[in-house]
Amino acid sequence: MQVLESVKGAQSFFSQTRSEGPIAFVPTMGCLHEGHLELVAHAKSLAKRVAVSIFVNPLQFGPTEDFNKYPRTFEEDQLKLEKASVDYLFYPSSSELYPAGFSSTVNVGELANRLCGAFRPGHFDGVATIVLKLLQIIQPSFAIFGEKDFQQLRVIENMVMDLNVATSVVAHPTVRELDGLARSSRNRYLSESDRRRASQIPQALSAVTELCRNQISTTVQQALELAFLRLSGLETQYLEITHGQDLRSAPKEAFISELSSPRLFLAVKLGTTRLIDNISLKEPHL
Ligand code: AMP
Repeated sequence: MQVLESVKGAQSFFSQTRSEGPIAFVPTMGCLHEGHLELVAHAKSLAKRVAVSIFVNPLQFGPTEDFNKYPRTFEEDQLKLEKASVDYLFYPSSSELYPAGFSSTVNVGELANRLCGAFRPGHFDGVATIVLKLLQIIQPSFAIFGEKDFQQLRVIENMVMDLNVATSVVAHPTVRELDGLARSSRNRYLSESDRRRASQIPQALSAVTELCRNQISTTVQQALELAFLRLSGLETQYLEITHGQDLRSAPKEAFISELSSPRLFLAVKLGTTRLIDNISLKEPHL
């Protein structure tokens, strides 16, 4: 596996090797787990050459968020990627990507203010900016993103379309632990008792998908009430059912079966750890 650290070096390397065929790219913040590795396997199924980036992007963290505390496990990550036969690892420093004088950012519009965006102002603009920079440097044919961060996936899809980026965005389903909890680099922050309580999250998602499957006349209100009940005792930051591609909040009285792309989203705080999850209510599959 070739490790590239400078922007200039990576840019010239990827432009010189373009004739060797398409690249599939997986951007990450490191502290890699099975979820990331499934994205890598998906990338390998799309293109002969696979690139992964590891960069904890300061632009997407708010001033009171966990940027400094975010786990950095480069040596272990490198071994995992080598084992997964990744071809290129882009591992730049902050000053490489944000040199003095850096000032241009991507503004992704209304979608960035919903759901997580309401609690993390500027987060999705920061995500879109770094992803656009990485796509410019690597110029992959495919970039793979997890549905675990579904709002992020939609933001990137929009950005790539709006700004005519020549990369196909590919979604990968959420990878879960045995009890259904979505794998996340932040799960390692959980105390033993919080980890146990965290399994209420997949249980709530399952209960709602089951209700929607069994009762065609389930309303948004009923589904939210059931989820809320199953999450009792947890600090729920938001719990919402959206519809459509732009993730608008669904009317409470609407029948879920009549909505287009209905999806349940939630963010929960356990101690100081914030966990997010989401699930489609159209083809419930949890
Ligand atoms: P991160 O390192 O958290 O920025 O995540 C890098 C990529 O991995 C993003 O596209 C995430 O959506 C994806 N990802 C993280 N956790 C999971 C998971 N449990 N299942 C699927 N994709 C994931």
